[in-house]
Order: sequence, then structure tokens, then C-alpha cells
Amino acid sequence: MNKESKRIVASGNNNTSQDNSRRTITILGSTGSIGKNTLDLLSRYPSKYNVQFLTAQSNVKLLAAQAKNIGASGAVIGNPDLYIELKELLEGTNISVAAGPEALIDAAESPSDFVMAAIVGAAGLSPTMAAIKRGATIGLANKECLVCAGALMIAEVASSGATLLPVDSEHNAIFQVFDFERPESIEKIILTASGGPFRNASKKVMDSATPAEAIAHPNWDMGAKISVDSATMMNKGLEIIEAYHLFPVSSEQIEVLVHPQSVVHSMVAFIDGSVLAQLGSPDMRTPIAYSLAWPDRLSSPAPRLDLAKFAKLDFEAPDNTRFASLGLAKEALVSGGASPIVLNASNEIAVEAFLKGKIRLTDIARIVESQIRKSMFSTVNSISDVLDVDRESRIYAKEYIDKYTAKQ
Ligand code: NAD
Ligand code: MG
Repeated sequence: MNKESKRIVASGNNNTSQDNSRRTITILGSTGSIGKNTLDLLSRYPSKYNVQFLTAQSNVKLLAAQAKNIGASGAVIGNPDLYIELKELLEGTNISVAAGPEALIDAAESPSDFVMAAIVGAAGLSPTMAAIKRGATIGLANKECLVCAGALMIAEVASSGATLLPVDSEHNAIFQVFDFERPESIEKIILTASGGPFRNASKKVMDSATPAEAIAHPNWDMGAKISVDSATMMNKGLEIIEAYHLFPVSSEQIEVLVHPQSVVHSMVAFIDGSVLAQLGSPDMRTPIAYSLAWPDRLSSPAPRLDLAKFAKLDFEAPDNTRFASLGLAKEALVSGGASPIVLNASNEIAVEAFLKGKIRLTDIARIVESQIRKSMFSTVNSISDVLDVDRESRIYAKEYIDKYTAKQ
């Protein structure tokens, strides 16, 4: 996709509190880290927000408790085996209950002013697309769906008049300082990365890292999958692809800079030498509040930034050898077609295998590399092509891991 064909991300208007009526919100993935932070904010403003649907995959007890506490209209559980349990938990309430992957799509399709897309992984693609198709305003945390289907999603945003607001802290930072009126004035965008728990670790230490060590992120409290992605820096690789789709820049205009304190959330460099950045404490409630209230601002309980406390902020170039995922993601972005889908699917499968103790942390990039190099998939023209490639890639990656672990 060339630079000219890209659209500005947020294209619609966000239907802010008309006639003092409450804004209606659906959260896809309410039991996760982003989902809980979103509910934390919404619960502070009962007169502004009214929750429609909450969805989760398997944590049925938390889903039911959240739906009761916030007074949601409906609760949807992705795993159909948990339907009865959810129904029992919500008996005696007016909260509607549904289950299964189609019900997740129905929840996204049902009217609401704002949808928080906070499902983890490519599993979020179909529900997020359903929300885009009906022209909703979407807070997009689920980066994997953009990695797999960015061009198709952005094209659908343009035709449906949906509004896509980046929630990922780096992309939210860039969104806040990007000059969408004058994209030619931008030289590059700089995604900051904390470097994760193994920023300074030797290859040997990384080889023997346990899942518990890998998910212990120094600055952010996040779900297990994104925490492992941060430890391998695949998270930043996925974010390069995410940024490419969200902003009118070429792949050469996206840079990564390691910044261990996670205070500068990202930067935009202009052709006159100016660099604009967005700063804040590492608390996702800031970008979530921004997306919920855009173009207004919402007071968030996130700790205020006290720069004097930090005394200094550090920046360094990433180590592309220990963090091979960065190069693999760039390679997949440049190759295009099915490559980013294969990258994402094989990474999801490899992260799952690592969390189950089947492979080492450092095997993840090796597995992803083997899959994107041998990928022979043809072009991708529709969401159904994306889903096919995703499904097949998962099978290949699992087979590869089985053979790989059998040899160890
Ligand atoms: P999480 O694992 O804490 O939560 C994931 C949510 O998705 C849960 O509600 C879970 O029930 C649901 N889910 C999982 N598998 C599903 C499936 N197959 N079908 C339907 N629902 C499913 O994840 P998280 O950390 O909240 O991250 C969510 C997304 O936001 C990810 O794409 C992540 O990369 C992105 N993100 C997260 C953070 C963060 O601080 N946690 C920051 C930036 C971006
Ligand atoms: Mg991020």
C-alpha cells in the first residue's frame, strides 16, 4: 500500500454526550487488563457512560460480577460451554446472556456509541470488523487484528465512516501529536520501547527465562501474552506494523528507541528538526480515557508524572540481535501479503507454548522466523482470506513446535 492511499485514522465524529444522554459503551474483552482499566474509568462516571455489552472468553465469574457491578445490558462469553454457568450467575437480573464466537460478533454489531476492542490476538478481528462495519467509534487496543488485516480494516473505516482511536500507549501518543493536516511535514515517528525485563540480560539468561520471569514487566501491568511479547520485543515489532496502518508514513519512517522508564510514550519528528512527544506515567488509564472522551478530555486517576523524581530519562538503540523479533516484524511488513498474518499467528502459538513450558523464550523468534520464511501463501484480498491464512498458520506452527520439541 502506498503512502497516498492511506487515510487519517479518526475520520468520523464521536457522538459525544448529545442532549446530556449517556454515551453507550461495549467492551470486547472486559476481563483482561485493558478491559478492567476501562471499567475502572467508566465506574467513576456513571452519569456519563452506560455499558451495553461486556464480553470475555472464559472467566465467567468475573464477567458476571463486572456486568452486575456496572449495570451492563448484556454479557457474552466466547466459550459456548460456559453459557449455562453465565446464565445461572446472572439469574434474577435483567442482563441478557449469550455465548459463542457469533455472539461476540453480535455484541460488536449491536448499537453502542463506543466499542473498546480489547480482545487479545487475532481472535479480536471479526468482532472488531463488525463494529467498524456499522460505523462505530472504536478504541483499538487489540493490535494483532491490525497486524493481520490493517489495510482491509482501514479501507472499511473509510467506507463505513467509523472512527478508530488508538489505545496502545505509543500509538495514542503519536495520535496526540501527529499533524494529520500536513503529513508531508513529518520526517519520522519514533516508537519508544521499555526493553522489557531482559533489556540488559545475557543471551544465556534469556535462554533459561521462566514464564513468571518473562511476564514480570518492569513498568506495565498487562496480560500474559503482551507481557511475553514485551520480553521478546515482538510487541514492538507488532507495533511497527500497527503504526504503519494507523498513520500516513512509510515503513522507513518508523523507528524504535529503547526508553526504560516508559515516560515518553512516543515521538513525532518533523522536517524542521522539531520533535514532539507525549509523556505520562505508565498507566493505561490515560490513553483509555483519551479514547473514551476524544476529542474532549476525561480526568483520569492515573498517577501524575513527577519528572523531578525520575531525575533522568534514558534512551538507547534496540539490540536487534538479542531481540530478533524486531527485524522479523519489519521483514513481514515489507513482504506484505500473508507474511504479517503468519508472523502474528506463529507468534501467538509460540507464546502459548512458552507459557505452557514447552519451549524456551528464545525459541519464539526462531519459530516465527521458520514460519515466515517458508510461508507460501498467496495474496490476501478479504477478511475471509485473512482468517484462512491465520487458521493454516496456526496448524503449521503447532506442527513445527511438536517436531521441534520432539528433537530436544
Ligand atoms: P488480557 O489477556 O489481559 O485480556 C484479554 C481479553 O480478551 C480477556 O477479556 C479475554 O477473555 C479475551 N479473550 C481472550 N481470548 C479470546 C478469544 N479467543 N475470543 C474472545 N475473547 C478472548 O489482554 P490485555 O493485556 O488486556 O490486552 C488486550 C489487547 O490490548 C491485546 O491485543 C494487547 O496487545 C493490547 N494492549 C494491551 C495493553 C495492556 O496494558 N494490557 C497495552 C497496549 C495494548
Ligand atoms: Mg504499546
